[in-house]
Amino acid sequence: MSEVTVVGLGPMGSKMAATFLDAGHEVAVWNRTASKAEPLLSRGARRAASAADGELLVVSQISYQAMYDSLGDERLDGKVVVNLSSDTPERLREAARRVAGRGGTLITGGVMVPPPGIGRPGAYTFYSGPKDVLDRHAATLAALGEITYVGADQGLAMMYYQAQLLMFWSSLTSLMHAQALLGTSGVGPLEFLPYARTLFAQLGGDGPMGYAKILSEEIAAGRHPGGENSLHMQAVGMGHVVEALTDAGLETTVPAALKALFDRADAEGRGQEGIGTVIESIRKP
Ligand code: NDP
Repeated sequence: MSEVTVVGLGPMGSKMAATFLDAGHEVAVWNRTASKAEPLLSRGARRAASAADGELLVVSQISYQAMYDSLGDERLDGKVVVNLSSDTPERLREAARRVAGRGGTLITGGVMVPPPGIGRPGAYTFYSGPKDVLDRHAATLAALGEITYVGADQGLAMMYYQAQLLMFWSSLTSLMHAQALLGTSGVGPLEFLPYARTLFAQLGGDGPMGYAKILSEEIAAGRHPGGENSLHMQAVGMGHVVEALTDAGLETTVPAALKALFDRADAEGRGQEGIGTVIESIRKP
């Protein structure tokens, strides 16, 4: 089995290195704080001489700046750098140019599971960059989870990753607002849980509440029919939610921002369209 060098041994990188070891790969490890390598060394990994020591470098750090700090001015001739760290799509594109300038090739990725999920069923990672290079290392990277290739543009993997995270963080924050509101009337989080799960499942389904699909199709078609659910009605309803939270003595930043966005789409004259018309306001801040 080929050797892989893991650069960055936070929770993610440490789990990745352990997963590569479990899959039978030779593994080299490098971390700014060298002591974090100890548990992996005792499992058979070798200590890399530098962050560029190896032909396949899998990087998992807090940001792309950390990769530059780690590599210093080392050359990367013929090396493949697979960076699975978070940053902006623009910085990933810039990193692709900088890695190429040192003779290497950058594959970017966004891992869609937390450390315990790495290498487990259901784990997947969005990758972008040159497909032939990714294909050459697919057998190794598959140890981390399913490979979901999204295109040659190195910024794309991060856009897909951020799109998912935006939905993840905003829907979970809404769940917390919902639970806090009900909590002010003595309804416990576990009492509400069945209804929260029903809504999440319905949104992803095919029924009349299957809004992930309904909205995507409307947005693709560029039409947002209001039908029996006008945006104006929903903006007023969202205002009632914000008032309810305020009356209950709760924080309202995110719900009030939603209300403001709905109101703007309404004020722009699209109140009789459906909720999908909000995307027109998002596109023109
Ligand atoms: P962190 O994002 O906290 O990253 C920690 C790693 O970054 C450590 O190895 C740390 O080194 C290194 N680092 C930070 N600054 C520098 C620097 N200037 N130079 C060199 N190394 C530096 O931990 P995670 O492991 O949780 O996350 C890694 C990446 O994976 C992040 O981009 C994160 O967004 C992403 N991710 C995380 C998930 C999670 O659930 N944890 C899930 C999906 C993606 P040192 O030990 O020396 O401090």
